[in-house]
Amino acid sequence: MKIKYSILLLLGFLFLSSTVDWGFFGHRRINKLACFTLPQDLFGFYKSNIDYISDHAVDPDKRRYASKFEAIRHYIDLDIWGEAPFNNIPRDWVNLMMHYTTIKKINSRGDTLTWLDRDLLPYDLRKPSKSFTFQNKEIDYRAYRSFIYDNVLNTYYDDDRDISKKNMSAFFGKYGIAVKGARFIAVDEFTEHGIVPFHLAFMQKKLEKAFLAKNIPSILRLSAEMGHYLGDAHVPLHTTENYNGQLTDQLGIHGFWESRIPELFADNEYDYFVGKAFYIEDKEEYFWDVVLDSHALVDSVLLIEKNLSKTFPQDQQICYDDRGNQLTRTQCKEYAKAYSLRMNGMVEGRMRDAILAIGSVWYTAWVDAGQPELSNLGIDKEVLTTEEDTEVNNAFKSNKIKGREH
Ligand SMILES: [Zn+2]
Repeated sequence: MKIKYSILLLLGFLFLSSTVDWGFFGHRRINKLACFTLPQDLFGFYKSNIDYISDHAVDPDKRRYASKFEAIRHYIDLDIWGEAPFNNIPRDWVNLMMHYTTIKKINSRGDTLTWLDRDLLPYDLRKPSKSFTFQNKEIDYRAYRSFIYDNVLNTYYDDDRDISKKNMSAFFGKYGIAVKGARFIAVDEFTEHGIVPFHLAFMQKKLEKAFLAKNIPSILRLSAEMGHYLGDAHVPLHTTENYNGQLTDQLGIHGFWESRIPELFADNEYDYFVGKAFYIEDKEEYFWDVVLDSHALVDSVLLIEKNLSKTFPQDQQICYDDRGNQLTRTQCKEYAKAYSLRMNGMVEGRMRDAILAIGSVWYTAWVDAGQPELSNLGIDKEVLTTEEDTEVNNAFKSNKIKGREH
């Protein structure tokens, strides 16, 4: 009996600390408040759909239960790739795929061998090269980029990522490189470690297109989801390999920082007067700045809690919260308060930054689409519940995540 009880407690704790980000509470709150940063011309439209925008702020988290391609859109483990400002990571998706894809060959015996190693293409953001050397031949970057664009990008969602042997021969043949092997496949070595800034750039373009087409259901869905991803990008622990303190013996810190603290203090103590949405000139750079700002806070997030845990009374750090008939193991309020104080308003600051950033990307997409008039378009609420919604909700109820939890 006793064992069963502690398993229940443990499950409760795991759910609280690791399956949500900003918590469902935080994401909804952030999306809702972002509406109030908009200028009058756009505010009316968002205001009349504010419930949708805030309710659907959590859809991308639910979708992590339906697709393995979803989880990686919520984070980027920057420290895997070196140190800030990460000039070894291209900011453009096609360049990223070019630099971080290794071409492997499968021979007639079925062995998989490295053919063109991505290490042959070193990258420096400040001075990109024009060519690289492969089998003693100089390969032109622009030509190789087109090759990757035509042959690798389109198989991103496929299980088998074959590159046609005919196309391989046509491209490498021009350089006098022989293409021998039964099959060639593309192996992307980057995306499993997270792609949030790249996904934000995709979303921005999609949202702009939806505004151009005056497609109301799409505008609403994409706005809500954009808010989610941009909210995640503001969380320091969404930019590190040590996302849940698992490498520093601080398991549960993810939920502590982004769910527990806002739940306790966001209602009564945070100031949400964040100012007016602004136009973003360079979107790609802006999304990277958000992620780099988050990453710069990772050490503080971890070290402050680590030090506090050594001085704060051990038996007053973890409490049991009564949440609707279920006891949940979580950080004590006083402990959360002390952590929050030592971080000097960091959680509130990132939440405020996220609110303003979200309003600004919505506004920017609308401006880029030529500021279409939306308030006179009828909205068919039925259209807003799509088949995908049902699928996602069912997967969410199954409670089995595909990919890692953050
Ligand atoms: Zn998320």
